[in-house]
Amino acid sequence: MYKTQLDYIFCPFCGRYLEVTVEEGQELKYCSQCKWKHYLKHDIAVAGIAVRFNPLPETLMVLRNREPNPGKWSFPAGFVNFGERPDNALIREVREETGLTVVRAKLIKEVVSDDDPNRSPKQQSRFYKMVVTGKVKNQDQEENSEIKWHSLSRQIPVPEIAWGNHELLFRYMQGDVLSFMEWAEYWKSEVR
Ligand SMILES: [Zn+2]
Repeated sequence: MYKTQLDYIFCPFCGRYLEVTVEEGQELKYCSQCKWKHYLKHDIAVAGIAVRFNPLPETLMVLRNREPNPGKWSFPAGFVNFGERPDNALIREVREETGLTVVRAKLIKEVVSDDDPNRSPKQQSRFYKMVVTGKVKNQDQEENSEIKWHSLSRQIPVPEIAWGNHELLFRYMQGDVLSFMEWAEYWKSEVR
């Protein structure tokens, strides 16, 4: 099991055993010696959604090859590193996972979820629609076993998706694929 921030035992500054206090209704660990309080921090994750028309709409997904949720699909995604801008994290993750270059990206949705409660409680995920260029290449086969354009057609079953918030976005796009049309056209012209 993953440890969470609530599992801290000792003060990282003076080494004293941490006590629990309540502030604005929230339990916090705190150090009675140096007065440090451990305000819990959220992780921020970013995910990129690319769409192409082939001629029916499809979206780019990766098949996870490791915990949590191996064997299920997600959009290319990952955590924002400390000190990193979320849009740069998106560019980095998409390149690391798919070999593609993000040409343009726009934030379309922010979601707070408990999809990954042990590793990242109340995780904040930022979804971008993006235009990508280049040739798909599975760069990290330990992380993903496959990369595939999945049909967004409603006649085709939704793949098994690793995270509830990614599935929500997938279904949203099935219903609103036209809003991605302009982006897909741009994508085509970039690739040629
Ligand atoms: Zn302390």
